[in-house]
Amino acid sequence: MRRLSTVLMVFVCTVSFSCSGGSSPTAPPVVNPPVVNPPAAPRLDLSPLSEQARAIFIVNNLVEVTGFATKWVGVITVGGAAEVAPFVKTAAIFWNEKIINGLVIEATEVSPKVLITIDAQAFLNQPAHVCATVGSRAIQNNNGIILSADMRVKPSCLGEGGLARTNPDAFTKIIAHEIGHAIGIFGHVPDGLICLMSGQELWPDLAPPTEEFLRFLYSTAVQPGARLQ
Ligand SMILES: [Zn+2]
Repeated sequence: MRRLSTVLMVFVCTVSFSCSGGSSPTAPPVVNPPVVNPPAAPRLDLSPLSEQARAIFIVNNLVEVTGFATKWVGVITVGGAAEVAPFVKTAAIFWNEKIINGLVIEATEVSPKVLITIDAQAFLNQPAHVCATVGSRAIQNNNGIILSADMRVKPSCLGEGGLARTNPDAFTKIIAHEIGHAIGIFGHVPDGLICLMSGQELWPDLAPPTEEFLRFLYSTAVQPGARLQ
């Protein structure tokens, strides 16, 4: 009795986000297929948020998809490539120490939902300094639930003289940054998402409005698929 195929309308958002500790601050425009939402989509009320956090919700979550709140439900497992496993573990701790209700990241190498693969091809058209990217996410169209995401890591960043060896902390932050793209921060926020450059400095942490947005997104106040109405 597999009725799943009748309800799963998955599209893949192919926009690439990347971060190397120095990536471009704006994501390219996204062209998405039309979305068929249920007539009675839950209502999204952004009034509890500060102006900055509200702008992040609208620009980096609603608009980048197709106008509905998009989030994971349940534990988000991340991993895949053994070479990256120690960094994923530390990046997961970074996220989990935020204690955001509803958001749990688990590092795993077995059937992760955010699958990390080592892949040189994904970086052929990227600036030389880019080490990791989230290439796509699968989103259940009719209810805004993120089902999986695809993260690629450039092999040269892991090898001799690569960033993972020369600056493991920065590389860990890049993985944490990419996890941010996988969990609902689509595109870059103006005041830094962990490793986005500010001048020549790595942002050490989530900026407060970004954290406020995520706490709200993953709270029970926001149902996946909710729309501003
Ligand atoms: Zn990024």
